[in-house]
Amino acid sequence: MKALVIDKPGQAFVRETQYPRPAGDEVVIKVKNCGICATDLHIYGGDYVGSYPVIPGHEMSGVIIEIGTDVPDVAGLEAGTRVTVDPNIYCGSCYFCRTNRSNHCLNWNALGVTKNGGFAEYVAAPYRNVYRIPDNMSFIEAAFAEPVSCVVYGLKRLKITGGDSVLIFGAGPIGLQMAQLAMHGNAASVTIVDLKENRLRLARKLGIKNTVLSGDGLPQILKDIAPLGFDVVIDVTGVAAVSEMTINYVKNTGKIMFFGVCSPEDKIMLSPFEVYKRDLEIYGSYALCQTFYPALDLINNRILDVTSLVSSCICLGDLPGVLKSKKFREENMKIMVGF
Ligand SMILES: [Zn+2]
Ligand SMILES: [Zn+2]
Repeated sequence: MKALVIDKPGQAFVRETQYPRPAGDEVVIKVKNCGICATDLHIYGGDYVGSYPVIPGHEMSGVIIEIGTDVPDVAGLEAGTRVTVDPNIYCGSCYFCRTNRSNHCLNWNALGVTKNGGFAEYVAAPYRNVYRIPDNMSFIEAAFAEPVSCVVYGLKRLKITGGDSVLIFGAGPIGLQMAQLAMHGNAASVTIVDLKENRLRLARKLGIKNTVLSGDGLPQILKDIAPLGFDVVIDVTGVAAVSEMTINYVKNTGKIMFFGVCSPEDKIMLSPFEVYKRDLEIYGSYALCQTFYPALDLINNRILDVTSLVSSCICLGDLPGVLKSKKFREENMKIMVGF
């Protein structure tokens, strides 16, 4: 089968690889779509936990074509079942797994990170990680289940309460998922900031009214929108300088969330006095935790428009070029690999 293999950081090739025979508890999926995510770029760049060589890709959908011998009937999976996959493989027996915090599993693995993932014609996945999708959900929509699960987990942690004003930095695919869900939830207003006007145009198309182009006038514009600050400020950019300025825009007693992935080396200046004096709450949000079903329901009920976030569909052969081209990626929203 053909797959994109990262042999080591900076070296990615499409080539013939071995078809993944399923272990007893695995199914083999013929991949239909797999989204490109910043994590794939971190693996390509060598600055993320990963093992090499690896086939990346963890936002996948497809059709089951083979079932391992130990997959129980109760799983309801058979050849021909349309599915998506939670790429995170949890041990089920460590402290965190047994206290409903499996995203912190001490023996964590993931398809597309430490094990072979979805930038391939076929992928093997443990049956416990596989979710059947409704007939009327497209494979492209289903490939969003993983990122939407992460957003749902973040928003669950934030517990946005009735009438909150929400400010989001970053109008990429994740920012626009976050904005749509915040708007559908309890937020009274959602404001989104980005450097690119085309992203803000898409945000407005998706119903987000307050869109602000980042630049010199930003502090004043945000002050005009929310003179006392915002109840919730979320940084999805992964740019440390942006994380650092979130505190300037949060209301007293408000919440800040660092959702975008900064580099492990990044540091920011933060005044503990200000956090104390202003009763602030600061949140992280790592991956997802038991949020796959809610994500699928949100997509399936079209609460969330994910299809509009796809700006390019490419084939596997284009992928090495896309990994190399920062410019192409910056000009795009979600890039989807199709098979
Ligand atoms: Zn991802
Ligand atoms: Zn565990």
